[in-house]
Amino acid sequence: MASVFLETFGCQMNELDSELVRSQLRSLGHVFTDDWRVADVVLFNTCSVRERAESKAYSRLGIIGQRKKRGEQVILGVLGCMAERDGPSLLRRYPQVDLMCGPGELDRLPMLIDNSFRSERGPAEERVALAGDRTRRSSTLAAAGDDLELLDLGRAFDPDGRDGAPWSAYVRITRGCNKFCTYCVVPNTRGAEVHRPPDHIVEECRRLVDAGVVEITLLGQTVNHYRYTHGVTVDSQGREAPQIGPGLAAFRANALPDGRTTTFAMLLARIHDEVPRLRRLRFLTSYPRDFGVDVLDVLASRPRLCPYVHAPVQSGSDRMLKLMNRGYTIDEYRAFVDRLFERVPDATLAGDFIVGFPTETEEDFEQSLALVRELPFKNNFIFKYSPRPGTVAIGRFEDDVPLAEKKLRNNRMLAVQSETSRRVHRSWVGRTVEMIIERVEATAPGEGVEVAAELDADAGFEPAAGTGAGALRSSRGAGVALSVLGQRSTATRRAHAAESVVITGRTTGDLIVSASASAEADIRPGAIVRVHLEHAEPLLLRGRVVVE
Ligand code: SAM
Ligand code: SF4
Repeated sequence: MASVFLETFGCQMNELDSELVRSQLRSLGHVFTDDWRVADVVLFNTCSVRERAESKAYSRLGIIGQRKKRGEQVILGVLGCMAERDGPSLLRRYPQVDLMCGPGELDRLPMLIDNSFRSERGPAEERVALAGDRTRRSSTLAAAGDDLELLDLGRAFDPDGRDGAPWSAYVRITRGCNKFCTYCVVPNTRGAEVHRPPDHIVEECRRLVDAGVVEITLLGQTVNHYRYTHGVTVDSQGREAPQIGPGLAAFRANALPDGRTTTFAMLLARIHDEVPRLRRLRFLTSYPRDFGVDVLDVLASRPRLCPYVHAPVQSGSDRMLKLMNRGYTIDEYRAFVDRLFERVPDATLAGDFIVGFPTETEEDFEQSLALVRELPFKNNFIFKYSPRPGTVAIGRFEDDVPLAEKKLRNNRMLAVQSETSRRVHRSWVGRTVEMIIERVEATAPGEGVEVAAELDADAGFEPAAGTGAGALRSSRGAGVALSVLGQRSTATRRAHAAESVVITGRTTGDLIVSASASAEADIRPGAIVRVHLEHAEPLLLRGRVVVE
């Protein structure tokens, strides 16, 4: 059996895919190593959403190529969105690559690795598993026969298999995307929207909680568009199987549940009610259009559901939204935000913006800035437009905003967001809330921990905090680079020996908190404590743990 190195780029969906790949390969006897220099198999799970993510992965291919040039036996594989987007031409441009596997074909990875071990250099068909345009042609029946579901079902409930914290896990509810925003590669690389059967999802959540997971984040590109119609898609054994999303008509015509359908709101309620030992249930990423009041009512009535909504708006200009094919106007987005806070007053809101989309004028951009000032975004991820092959935008529009101007707009928006974040944080000062501990740090009596953020021009504004080197695990893939001045130890053991500790973590609304605590409290990563919030900064809130 082989030793495998796997590096993940990109979003939470990729992190989850990597975890599932790890489960699958471990169950076949492969072992994982953190050292790419000695691994028999080196795999990169890649991202195509922006050019920068791809450039990083290409440079890794060059480095591994050096090992091959030295005559070392190593199998090099490209997984994920880049494999799907580039197609087999990547094999010609990077002859050191032995295998490629798209995100929709990951269940076939063990076979590809096996083929690579057996034959020095087999034909491309034996080394490549890509959906091509097959996913776009998928019928409901094709999705029913979709073996990718086996990858999710085969998940090992092993805390060590996860990249992040063992007490937190992702669960996929929807794969792919049908929205075709003009700038985005995801519908091409991940295929059509496919919804998993609710029973599979609830069972997966239950098993994760049995394995010690405290917090689950449900994943979908447009997670609130989840909808499963029972009795339509059954496999050969009569079990319910994944099914293609019903399209927009279902949201317009079928506002009331028809007795055969599990909506997103119903799924949230089911998980909450049927997995009572789950402490926190979250979801990413919401699509602002069709965010029903049924979901808001479930959010308001279920205490262990986190009232945190990440709903990217992308631009404050209706003209830009139209060119992006987002399908809503700014007034519709505002109405959605009003409904959110009316029904769930303790909700928090986060988003994404793209700056420098083709033809974006200073006036369009000013409208985005005005929206960041107006709405209570706790944070926004801000991206410079990156033209992506295969998208509608690259063929239709010239990338006419110069890079220097994109960088400038990015930084201007970061500055405005910083003020909005401080304002949102201030509105929480004086309250006592629940927080989940992500890091624990020893500190001598009277000593504080100073946090300094470097606003990377290319990063989204994620008010992240850390008490060790690097940022807290971000609720999104990207984040603000952080350097922490002060204490650097993260060992819980030492924390208990100290007279007091500083903890960092997140509230149910995903607000980052740094709090002092006495060492006697139940202080360990994954524990949930109550904190009194005393001070607001753009990046985080500060407070102290209260023992009630
Ligand atoms: N499905 C989610 C949604 O629609 O909100 C987002 C998924 S996308 C992978 C994450 C974010 O990347 C988007 O919200 C968008 O802001 C950004 N993004 C996608 N394509 C981009 C591009 N070509 N250039 C710059 N940013 C892009
Ligand atoms: Fe991409 Fe738009 Fe789908 Fe999000 S909704 S994944 S931005 S196409």
